[in-house]
Amino acid sequence: MAEAVKKSARDDVEHREVLIIGAGPAGSVAAQRLAEEGVDVLSIERREIVGNPAQCGECIPNWGEVIAAFDNVEKDPWLRSSFDFPDRVRLARLDWMRVFSPSMKCWGFELDAFSAHRPQFDGMLAERATSAGAEIRVGTALRKVQKQPKLGRELYLTTNGTYTADYIIDASGSLAQVARLRRGKDATFRPSDQIPTIYAQVEGDLPDTFDVFLGAVAPGGYAWIIPKGETANVGLGVAAGKLGEVMLKQYLGEFCQKMDFEVLSWGGGWIPMGGPVKRMVDGNVLAVGDAAGLVMPSNGGGISQAMISAKFAADAILAHRADGVGLEIYEKMVRRSMGKALRISLRSKRLGNAFLGGDLRTEAMMRILGPIGGLKRAMECKRPLWLF
Ligand SMILES: Cc1cc2nc3c(=O)[nH]c(=O)nc-3n(C[C@H](O)[C@H](O)[C@H](O)COP(=O)(O)OP(=O)(O)OC[C@H]3O[C@@H](n4cnc5c(N)ncnc54)[C@H](O)[C@@H]3O)c2cc1C
Repeated sequence: MAEAVKKSARDDVEHREVLIIGAGPAGSVAAQRLAEEGVDVLSIERREIVGNPAQCGECIPNWGEVIAAFDNVEKDPWLRSSFDFPDRVRLARLDWMRVFSPSMKCWGFELDAFSAHRPQFDGMLAERATSAGAEIRVGTALRKVQKQPKLGRELYLTTNGTYTADYIIDASGSLAQVARLRRGKDATFRPSDQIPTIYAQVEGDLPDTFDVFLGAVAPGGYAWIIPKGETANVGLGVAAGKLGEVMLKQYLGEFCQKMDFEVLSWGGGWIPMGGPVKRMVDGNVLAVGDAAGLVMPSNGGGISQAMISAKFAADAILAHRADGVGLEIYEKMVRRSMGKALRISLRSKRLGNAFLGGDLRTEAMMRILGPIGGLKRAMECKRPLWLF
């Protein structure tokens, strides 16, 4: 009897070649790439609808912006086509950014991006993955990882079944759920310096530029307005510990009131701003996107890094599967491509924290940096000044 129970419990475990946790941009890009190469892929997603609710400012970079920021991607035809987005997800062109000082003096520069509704954008990427043959199970959350040393495996327990896999991709976003469940508080594998953000979808007299506001409006961070056609995504992120959740909402409410915007809905989320995790590969687990801390610390953008890293992770799995190449190649590819930009961005963020303080100091620094292109370079994750 006991043997029968054990056996049936074991039979309930579903084995897949690749199990991906999370169907955000990173999860879906990895799933698409692997499925196109004939790999058996299951992606599990805790939400009922992929991408919904959005936790984003919803500014998506075009390919031109991507190849200007990162190395070793320009000649990758697969990535090139991955960044070829259909018109239906493009709501408004974002080809100009303005950065405002506390006194509302502004500096502008070119941008190559567009705004989108994240549920539509993430849904489009998920559709590409399923069309390629990947399976996505929504409403399925990873809850626990259980080691079974005698059987030489790890069980992935979810709200909808138990799984084993040859390879695991942690695409679960900033909280890096696989690393959390396998490694607890070990900072080697989890992104750090999570900053709280809040945003609102608004109506009103909207700009047609991506506007950023520095100073007391968002202590240690910035407020943004990203036009989306009829509406705009307006939000703010602040340095960790500067404001509680209630204060954050109050600050954004006051900002919207000042701009005469009508708030239609609220959202929020965490952005890992501490730079890449120390190790992105842990046994057969590869961390991608936000789970690997690949967000630009100076501006909070992470969608392109999520997509690129996911493609690299899929390539590493394909190489391991075909020729036994060590999975560590994945981390090398990521660092070769985006390591420099992320390092400079982290330095810019630290300089910002050190030099931008209250309104007076922020105003003074911006008036020094603005005219010599320092703000543009900091936003683009290039060296803010020749000095640094
Ligand atoms: C408020 C805000 C504004 C932002 N604005 C921008 C912007 O304008 N432009 C930009 O480029 N970046 C922006 N970012 C960052 C960007 O959203 C992320 O970098 C990007 O979404 C990372 O993609 P990802 O696939 O790694 O993670 P995510 O998009 O976070 O996807 C992770 C997925 O995993 C799922 N998941 C989590 N836990 C589990 C679990 N236990 N089981 C199963 N599924 C799970 C989640 O539901 C989610 O669908 C913003 C972030 C925030 C919070």
